[in-house]
Amino acid sequence: MIYSGSNAVAVLTENAVKSAIEKDGEEKKIAFPDTAYFLPTIYAATGVKVATLGDLPACLEVLKSLITNKDDLGEALNAGLATAVGAEILEALKYVNNDDPYGNEKGIGFVPDSIIRSLGVPLVTGDIPGVAVLIGKAEDAETVAGIIKDYQSKGLLSFLVGDVIEQAAENGVKMGLEFRVVPLGQDVTAVIHVVTVAIRTALIFGNIQAGDLKALLEYTKERVPAFVNTFGELDSVVVSAGAGAIALGFPVIADVDLGENQVPGALESVTDHSQTVGCSLELRNIKIKMKEIPIPVSYASAFEGEIIRKGETNTEMASNRNPTCELVISRKAEEVEDHRIVVDGPDIEEIPDEIQYLPLANIIEVYGAKMQPDFEAVIERKIHTWLNYLEGVMHTGQRNLLRVRISREAVSKGLKLKHLGEMLYHMILDEFGSVVDKCQITLVTDGQKVQKLLDELAMPAYKARDERITSLTDESVDTYYTCILCQSFAPSHCCIVTPERLGLCGAVSWLDAKATVELTPNGPSRPIPKEGLIDEKYGKYESVNKIIKQETHGAVDEIALYSILEQPMTSCGCFECICGIMPEANGVVIVNREFKGMSPSGMTFGELASMTGGGVQTPGFMGHGRQYISSKKFAAAEGGPARIVWMTKELKDDVGEKLNKVAKELYGIDNFTDMICDETIATDVDEVMNFLNEKGHPALSMPEIM
Ligand code: SF4
Ligand code: ZN
Repeated sequence: MIYSGSNAVAVLTENAVKSAIEKDGEEKKIAFPDTAYFLPTIYAATGVKVATLGDLPACLEVLKSLITNKDDLGEALNAGLATAVGAEILEALKYVNNDDPYGNEKGIGFVPDSIIRSLGVPLVTGDIPGVAVLIGKAEDAETVAGIIKDYQSKGLLSFLVGDVIEQAAENGVKMGLEFRVVPLGQDVTAVIHVVTVAIRTALIFGNIQAGDLKALLEYTKERVPAFVNTFGELDSVVVSAGAGAIALGFPVIADVDLGENQVPGALESVTDHSQTVGCSLELRNIKIKMKEIPIPVSYASAFEGEIIRKGETNTEMASNRNPTCELVISRKAEEVEDHRIVVDGPDIEEIPDEIQYLPLANIIEVYGAKMQPDFEAVIERKIHTWLNYLEGVMHTGQRNLLRVRISREAVSKGLKLKHLGEMLYHMILDEFGSVVDKCQITLVTDGQKVQKLLDELAMPAYKARDERITSLTDESVDTYYTCILCQSFAPSHCCIVTPERLGLCGAVSWLDAKATVELTPNGPSRPIPKEGLIDEKYGKYESVNKIIKQETHGAVDEIALYSILEQPMTSCGCFECICGIMPEANGVVIVNREFKGMSPSGMTFGELASMTGGGVQTPGFMGHGRQYISSKKFAAAEGGPARIVWMTKELKDDVGEKLNKVAKELYGIDNFTDMICDETIATDVDEVMNFLNEKGHPALSMPEIM
């Protein structure tokens, strides 16, 4: 059956390639959108960079050579890979004369590189514990919808192919990347779009070299926690696609009885749908850590991105109307009564056709023998994430600038303020239990009381914290930290986190890493005593080198904390921004992950990003967090942030204020960001140069960067 499917796909592909070449000619370009990896399956497996239709016939030969029709399971799995190659070509052909072939379909088709990079952190932290691929048409729609919702409630990322999309939609499954349920497309060939996600994960994070098929298959099998569920009768094409999945190391669970054709651990039948989820997770050894909390709405990391519009809002607590604040503060043991949750003031009320506006002070008092004031902000920042886990609750902002919306649906299910407290209490003890022994939460909605708490408790606490953060410099501390969380995807990557240089994902600050050491002693972070200064300007230390060598298992033995050109820090792949040298301007350009356009280096974010990653040092290119741009230590060895000649408008808006302040302090320049070019001004090298000359950008008169 595998061979018959593979052969069918081979014929289909061959004919499609032939007619495409007849119609558009061999020179016609073929590419998926927003990727630096060509046709990723073909590129990763063979190293061939398909760019035009004329490149395809050679790929067809490779495809056919994989189909030996020999009666051997290994060979048959290779035929499954041939189906993957065929599916990739067929899907890529859809993009030849159409930028958005999936525009009107219930599916998104090709997944851009930037999305894969953004999934790096949730996958390594276990926030997304696994990836489910659901294909086919279930006998009854409700069942499959139930299975998807179950995966969703466990935080898994599900990709749907075929009729299950319609079936899920009919049964009220919330879909979209923000809900972790991604419809790919109707045709079975659309399954390639999740296959290339796995394959590009290997290229982006794993430093797998294109053409090294063996290493690729090992990587996907070991590090990409994916599996496949098929629904309904299996036709030969689905079977051969399934063989491809198995070759990549992803077990396939079919809901029909395959009898003696089952292959334990790789291809199994689970005909009882109530067992599908459990068996699938077990086969891939995926552990779910969420526990039961007594509240009337669902909560899951999959609801984190849920947006609640005005029309759906029952209750809003927003700082533009009412005083609001949230604060985590440490207290003495006797001042905290564990699990005490108090609502002081009016509670959430169901009001039809109107929005209930409330003030809110969310005061979380904690005590712990090992608690440190530095951890207050670390815990407080998580309130945002946890409240967003609740279905029907949207939280934005932090500190005294907040907006919390509660949907009508959630209120009709009985959601009250104490449930928000309940959720926070459980999450705090779950995640911070090693430093928090007791926790009490007070949710105040009485306007006058909130104002008083804001003025007398919260604002002074924020101010003290800010003073502490500004006083934290690389010079003022005696310990830096490692973070190796990303090693599950980028096995030899290690971030060094200092007060003035946060992790490249943007999610791990020096305070976070410090807390991590306390919270999980054998976790991803280790302290590095700042010892054995080698070079201050470059930020080289013997102790840093020693630990980086250990933590990367010898892959990296020396790094400079502050240089882009000499032993720069490695990149895993999930960086928020990438900077690269622009030799013409004697400076660097910085592009953030969300930016889709072209930079003056002649490369997009994805192309720049593909220059580095996988835990490798690439002088001239470096991934980094957004906040690092406005650090005095940014490219300090090369002269500091004055080297920034071009960055995206969005980054300017985001970090401009701080960057201007730093430039004033370091160089005495006012409004430095006005001297930096962006895409609204120019992306063409000559035009960028004209702009920089006109503005008298400081990089032009700095020493040669290379
Ligand atoms: Fe990954 Fe570095 Fe962020 Fe840690 S700090 S999660 S290693 S990118
Ligand atoms: Zn990473």
